Amino acid sequence: MMASQSKATKNAIDDYLAPATLSDALGALEDGEATILAGGTDLMVQTQSGRVGYKQRLVNIRRIDELRGISEHGGRICIGALVTITELLNNTLVAEKVPVLAAMADKFASNQIRNVATVGGNICNASPAGDSIPPFLVLDADVELACLRDGKAATRSVPITEFFTGPGRTVRASNELVTGISFAVPQAGFIARFIKSGPRPALEISAVSMALGGVVENDVFRSVSLSFGSVAPTAMRARKAETFLTGKKLDDETIRAAVETALEEVSPIDDVRASIWYRRHLVGVYLRRLVADVVQG
Ligand SMILES: Cc1cc2nc3c(=O)[nH]c(=O)nc-3n(C[C@H](O)[C@H](O)[C@H](O)COP(=O)(O)OP(=O)(O)OC[C@H]3O[C@@H](n4cnc5c(N)ncnc54)[C@H](O)[C@@H]3O)c2cc1C
Repeated sequence: MMASQSKATKNAIDDYLAPATLSDALGALEDGEATILAGGTDLMVQTQSGRVGYKQRLVNIRRIDELRGISEHGGRICIGALVTITELLNNTLVAEKVPVLAAMADKFASNQIRNVATVGGNICNASPAGDSIPPFLVLDADVELACLRDGKAATRSVPITEFFTGPGRTVRASNELVTGISFAVPQAGFIARFIKSGPRPALEISAVSMALGGVVENDVFRSVSLSFGSVAPTAMRARKAETFLTGKKLDDETIRAAVETALEEVSPIDDVRASIWYRRHLVGVYLRRLVADVVQG
């Protein structure tokens, strides 16, 4: 018990590495005894408060160019783990093909935080309130991971719906690095929207966040994807509400019933930011608002 306690609150670093290549970084992570540092906007707060302890080695990945950039190939968009929130906000490919990510970035923290906070860090921190997660869920994104196996780089893709296992927990193994996130270029006519709570959303941790995507043809909703943040132990897809909305005309009765279905799927908690009642109330308000936004295009 004492051993694990002292490990959990270890705030001294025995070794610090700042590799310049992906293969050097994977080597530094190989024994699973390293803490990864990207922008540090979560890690520094957590280690200074004692909530998280450092492992033996701190590996700063910020010098690795292979983890940067936003590109499109083979019908997929790839976002490097080190892409910052500011880059998402200003990128022309994002603006043209996935404006929902720019809309999310516009509600994310202050400029100072956006300039250093990375997409990889937001995902790996695995907060149920992580703002990038609901839009990536709606885009059916895959999380790209790499590690060394028998001295060679090995990669795997994990659907983001399977990446999170609880608050702060993911399926990433301790020797793995998230290299980026990728998803199919949305089909023609796909519209997605994001909303998060708070009077000054960019400066608040959301009490509820939500993303909704789909194609509206002749008032009928198709290819519907709906996701929530902060209403369950992990950000989640609302599969029942998606199925309910798919193929329906978006009239008042459909939306009312969709809200009821969505409320059956969520399991919010009371905490300092909001009560269960208020979170459930916001689910209804936001779903109505996002459906109206998507219908209007
Ligand atoms: C004042 C303030 C305001 C904030 N506002 C918001 C907000 O509005 N919305 C929001 O969602 N978040 C917010 N955050 C939280 C934080 O900024 C984000 O989660 C950010 O995206 C984390 O990225 P980072 O690069 O700083 O991660 P880091 O702090 O460097 O790392 C976070 C975690 O992920 C791990 N990690 C990082 N990169 C990788 C990788 N490539 N592979 C494997 N593991 C990795 C680290 O080891 C650590 O456990 C805020 C934080 C602060 C301090």
